[in-house]
Amino acid sequence: MTNDQKLYYGKNITVKFQPEKCIHSGVCVKGLPAVFNVSRRPWVEPDADAAEAIARHIDKCPSGALRYEILDQE
Ligand code: SF4
Repeated sequence: MTNDQKLYYGKNITVKFQPEKCIHSGVCVKGLPAVFNVSRRPWVEPDADAAEAIARHIDKCPSGALRYEILDQE
């Protein structure tokens, strides 16, 4: 198994995605379709909602495929 991680950089949050962990539950795309949209490239748009809202939603990813880092806002 590879440990491939994709990074999507927003102004206030970096979204991290490990495709091999994804179990395709659809939680991300159903909950925040403006941010997570698999018919768009890139499929993650970290500036489409507030960083906190994205973070709370990523916490619901059942597989751990999605993670995030909130960036310091100075
Ligand atoms: S919520 Fe997590 S496991 Fe479900 S589709 Fe999205 S990335 Fe994959």
